[in-house]
Amino acid sequence: MAVQRTFSIIKPDATERNLTGAVNAVIEKAGLRIIGQRRIQMTQAQAERFYGVHSERPFFGELVAFMTSGPVVVQVLEGENAVAAYREVMGATNPAEAADGTIRKLFAKSIGENTVHGSDSEENAAIEIEQFFTEADIAG
Ligand code: ATP
Ligand code: MG
Repeated sequence: MAVQRTFSIIKPDATERNLTGAVNAVIEKAGLRIIGQRRIQMTQAQAERFYGVHSERPFFGELVAFMTSGPVVVQVLEGENAVAAYREVMGATNPAEAADGTIRKLFAKSIGENTVHGSDSEENAAIEIEQFFTEADIAG
């Protein structure tokens, strides 16, 4: 297996509850390295672009409103098979279905306010990292 990068967002439900460090502890315990990290207030345009793939879904307006409701922490994670490894650490989208020990099982409030985002493919990881980071802000 190859060393990969993936893109992560610690969502507003987590920053609001001061859980950035707690989420990062789970990430690091799983063997993923946080090689880029920045706390930002997402604009509506950034959130609409980021989740553009869901623009026709009934929850799109709610999702954009949530992602801009408070600060988020955008991250680049690196590790063996990082895309799949982080999806496993995150747990299912709906916390009621997430496995024990996963970030969403531990911290998520609902299917919408579910604490973290992680890229779903290596191709999307590269696109998402590029939306928020330059190489100068990443150090592996
Ligand atoms: P993410 O892309 O944030 O990592 P995911 O890949 O597990 O999550 P997606 O299907 O891509 O899930 O949905 C993107 C996000 O949209 C979810 O994380 C959640 O915040 C929100 N969402 C998904 N389904 C619903 C729903 N039924 N109601 C409200 N919000 C939803
Ligand atoms: Mg997704």
